[in-house]
Amino acid sequence: MRGIASSAPGSLLGILGQTRAADKQPSPETIARRTRQRRQMLDMIGLSYVIDAAILLIYAYAGTTTYTIAGAYGACGLLSVALFIALSETSVTDRFRDHYFVTQQSSISLAIMLVFIYLAPEVGFLFLCSIFLVFTFAALRSTPRQTIIGWTTAAVGLTILFLLTDKPIAMPHETSLERLATMLVFILVLGRGMIVGLFSSSLHESLYRRGLELKEAYKRIEELAELDELTGSLNRRSIMHSLDEEINRARHSNIPCAIALIDLDWFKRINDQFGHPVGDEALRAFAITVFANIRSIDKFGRYGGEEFLLILPETSDSAALRIVDRLRKIVASLDWTAISQNMAVTMSAGLATLRPDDTADSILARADRLLYQAKDLGRNQVVST
Ligand code: GH3
Ligand code: MG
Ligand code: MG
Repeated sequence: MRGIASSAPGSLLGILGQTRAADKQPSPETIARRTRQRRQMLDMIGLSYVIDAAILLIYAYAGTTTYTIAGAYGACGLLSVALFIALSETSVTDRFRDHYFVTQQSSISLAIMLVFIYLAPEVGFLFLCSIFLVFTFAALRSTPRQTIIGWTTAAVGLTILFLLTDKPIAMPHETSLERLATMLVFILVLGRGMIVGLFSSSLHESLYRRGLELKEAYKRIEELAELDELTGSLNRRSIMHSLDEEINRARHSNIPCAIALIDLDWFKRINDQFGHPVGDEALRAFAITVFANIRSIDKFGRYGGEEFLLILPETSDSAALRIVDRLRKIVASLDWTAISQNMAVTMSAGLATLRPDDTADSILARADRLLYQAKDLGRNQVVST
């Protein structure tokens, strides 16, 4: 029997809630999570501008470029980040499908880089390296369409700069200070690229884990939809579905099939005498006993109340009688006093084998009539046709 008690409805509902949220209106938690993720990304971009501006200050100190360029670059970068932080924190970006504003952010960053290559070609290679970073960041959240648009825009901008101007785009390395700054540019661009790579792998891993959780949750839902909560046997809908399937299979392959409608004897009395919770426990113990004594091909489900349906595929009349009568004996000889003192439970069954013209209803009706005969004959019996 599969363990009902081991389910974790909290996490299941949580996952389902998130899935629903992803499909339709985002929930407040989803919006908060997205805002947090955007903030994280914008902080990283802001920090990246600060690093570049700091290196530009070294270049300015070395006399390669001006302090104005260093300051203006830092200010433009941080202003653009501030603008997107404001849009993100006021949830404006949440109204858009691409709530990360990938295209807008990478376009503005790209424009800043291109303008500064034009304005300060003496340190142009720093901005060229930063273009790599812009696209590394953008690649985290880009769709193929956004990637193509970004690449085309960058290609057009660079073509204009390289072919339509004669600016000598430089990689300063004259003095030792310039060499130090240039080395820093390379090392720090490399480092930032790797950090973005790490971020991307952790993102993939969490998505992968989320996928597994969802798979588990759906499996659990399917099980819950099939099983009877109290006994862990198939529920009525599911056992009836199995009956239809087995009837079709038996008919197509011309193999026998038997069903047994099993009803516990005097169960009302058991409830009256020992209480409903003990009755429930007896139902569970009965189901476990049946599961332990049937074959893997057999199907067992709760037909209603204390009435169960057992489907015995590929089983002849005589074999089915042997199996069900053995079950009856096992149930009758079980030590029910382990559940409650003086308790004894027996079962009666009506056993019917499939006839060529049978439907699910007709074979069930026959099994039901036979079950009544078993009750009339004094209970704790199996009656077959
Ligand atoms: P019979 O031998 O003729 O079948 O007698 P019976 O008392 O078993 O028959 P009846 O159909 O009159 O009563 C069935 C009882 O089973 C009544 C109901 O309270 C009890 N029952 C049905 N479902 C459950 C359940 O989920 N838990 C418990 N504890 N009792 C149940
Ligand atoms: Mg009964
Ligand atoms: Mg009954």
